[in-house]
Amino acid sequence: MNNELKYCPACGGDTLSWDLEKKWSCNCGFVLFNNVAAAVAVIIRHGDEIFLTRRNQNPQKGKLDLAGGFTDPGETGEETCRRELYEELKLEVDLSRLKYMGSLPNIYHYKGIDYQTLDLFYEYTVDARFEPDPEISEISETVWIPKSRIQPDDLAFDSQKKFLKEYCS
Ligand SMILES: [Zn+2]
Repeated sequence: MNNELKYCPACGGDTLSWDLEKKWSCNCGFVLFNNVAAAVAVIIRHGDEIFLTRRNQNPQKGKLDLAGGFTDPGETGEETCRRELYEELKLEVDLSRLKYMGSLPNIYHYKGIDYQTLDLFYEYTVDARFEPDPEISEISETVWIPKSRIQPDDLAFDSQKKFLKEYCS
């Protein structure tokens, strides 16, 4: 899909070409990298249950999702977890309970561009279930599902399907 971009932002010619992996370049010397972006996905856990959200926007509207999001410039993975959980759920993260579990690559399709990501998975254990404010726009529903009843194919992204298949087995 990234080859839909044809016009070079430097010289204006329709000579921009996509290398099918990570960069656009033009005869005029212009180069633009679409490097792998870091993102976090947090398995919020209470006992044997996992907290999931239902996506209210594309890509993958209607599918289940783990809390998380893209890392901002200058952030650590842990800081991204803390910021995203506060923005999405108003949860104040205690970093001593956040545990890094591993990483998996993913492709995030958004408005005609494929973003290659490296998703960092974390587990965050909470003492009590919580129900976030339903007015949060990115989320249409939140659910607590016992680990044994999670269907990985209901998840929005391949990296999450793969990770949860392993995590819940
Ligand atoms: Zn050019």
